[in-house]
Amino acid sequence: AEPILKVVNLKKYFPIRRGLLASLRGESEKYVRAVDGVSFEVHKQEVFALVGESGCGKTTTGKLVMKLLEPTEGKIYLEGQDVTELKTKEEIKAYRRKVQMIFQDPFSSMNPRFRIYDVLEEPLLIHGIGETRAEREELIYKALEMVKIVPPEDYVHRFPHMLSGGQRQRVAIARALILNPTFIVADEPVSMLDVSIRAEILELMKELKEKMGVTYLYITHDLSTARYFADWIAVMYLGRIVEMGPAKEVIDNPLHPYTRALLAAVPEPIPERKDIIKEVPIKGEVPSAVNIPPGCRFHPRCLYFKKGLCDVEHPKLVEHEHNHWVECHLVGKI
Ligand code: SF4
Repeated sequence: AEPILKVVNLKKYFPIRRGLLASLRGESEKYVRAVDGVSFEVHKQEVFALVGESGCGKTTTGKLVMKLLEPTEGKIYLEGQDVTELKTKEEIKAYRRKVQMIFQDPFSSMNPRFRIYDVLEEPLLIHGIGETRAEREELIYKALEMVKIVPPEDYVHRFPHMLSGGQRQRVAIARALILNPTFIVADEPVSMLDVSIRAEILELMKELKEKMGVTYLYITHDLSTARYFADWIAVMYLGRIVEMGPAKEVIDNPLHPYTRALLAAVPEPIPERKDIIKEVPIKGEVPSAVNIPPGCRFHPRCLYFKKGLCDVEHPKLVEHEHNHWVECHLVGKI
């Protein structure tokens, strides 16, 4: 089947303002290469996780998919339609209806002076859904029931601050779903919640995927929730996908040194992966995306670094095993 979302060689470079001195010296313009040639496909009713540390480009990729940013290069297709070609206000509005976002902090994405009813009515009004107030009310009640904010009549008149963090995130999910979207970008939707309610929210999102046929791009720094929630995992490092495959395969058989290091750093170790936990975690910090190391961009932190190869040649993302892609010169040998 055709993918719902197809991303091809996506790049986003942010120019850095040069100082006067640098301009006078004629130094070349510098860029933050936030996303640097990323390709992947997401199929209907699947969860595709982009995993990595902050600064790896996962959130920028999400914003590009949401069309909140325009790419420097590359293409994004939603249901075969070239998203980068959508230009008019109407086209972009129609796209915004199809692609919804769930944020890390539901509180900051809601108007604090809006009651829950208004929070959910707003997207309906913007997109002209539900002609009468009664019709809209029915949609709002249905959406709240779907996310188990029940009975809805007990909640519609409350303000966001009167709800718990978990309840607020449920309302945010209801607001995304009320437009019956094709695709949802969920950027760290549970990382600000108590550990005890994270699983509950992910379980709900999973359930809605089955019931409503939604497809998710799940952006997270946390491999353990990705393993639980996602069908596919792509691990990003400094703007590139370094490993990609079915979630179970990537977790059970990680082939890239960076994925192994990330797994070693998971706070609640994944029980069946004790062997990996024993590996020495990565050294140092993520380098800046302005001065990306030559060759393999992970080489300054890699335990397996091979001089003359890793610091010189840029490895390619290759399908090492069926559906399992890795960007490392030594894949299969380490
Ligand atoms: Fe490490 Fe070399 Fe592989 Fe990069 S290419 S991850 S430096 S072994």
